[in-house]
Amino acid sequence: MNILVVEDQQRLGQFLTSGLKEHAYEVRWVRSCAAASDALSEHRYSAIVLDLGLPDGDGLELLSQWRRAGFQEPVLILSARDTVQDRISGLNVGADDYLPKPFSFEELLARLRSLLRRQSTVKSVVLEHHGIALDTVNRTVHVGGQPVELTSRELAVLEIFMHNAGRIVTRSLICETIWSSSVDSDANLLDVYISRLRGKLEAVRGQPLFKTLRGVGYQLL
Ligand code: CA
Repeated sequence: MNILVVEDQQRLGQFLTSGLKEHAYEVRWVRSCAAASDALSEHRYSAIVLDLGLPDGDGLELLSQWRRAGFQEPVLILSARDTVQDRISGLNVGADDYLPKPFSFEELLARLRSLLRRQSTVKSVVLEHHGIALDTVNRTVHVGGQPVELTSRELAVLEIFMHNAGRIVTRSLICETIWSSSVDSDANLLDVYISRLRGKLEAVRGQPLFKTLRGVGYQLL
């Protein structure tokens, strides 16, 4: 079980990391929205512990982007914002649980275990669309039954489209999800990734994969 901890406070981050490791979890600790999005597009995590007040953005907005992009990892928000309205907002944007700070580590562990138990009963891991099959756990892609080699970033971009097959996916949604930013340099990078995906997948599929909506985004056909 590997846990992504998103927490900018040094002492709390260290405390969470060492406590979870003592309980045999693998832990990746990051301190910003950008680093969290990087981590999530490169690896699959069993669960995410998410702080809300982060130096480069708001955890709620980050979670909302992840959910819109189709990332389904269980998320436990760990925040000093502790009003009922804060909790409702967190759950509404897609958190699975909400634990206010200060918290008891034992309670955090119990809640994480409960999330992980629920998650292990969810078995739908292969996304399929018009002959493309993306295994979200093993991180593999097949087109018409043939394996296709993708880098982890290419696969993360494709995964967003697979979750939104047939829908228009905006450039900003992809950039914000994969690079946690929507600045121009990343938009250019997106074109590079789409072009690589076209090259790798259309060759096997034998027909166009993406429709380009100039200035707006792309649609997986
Ligand atoms: Ca914080």
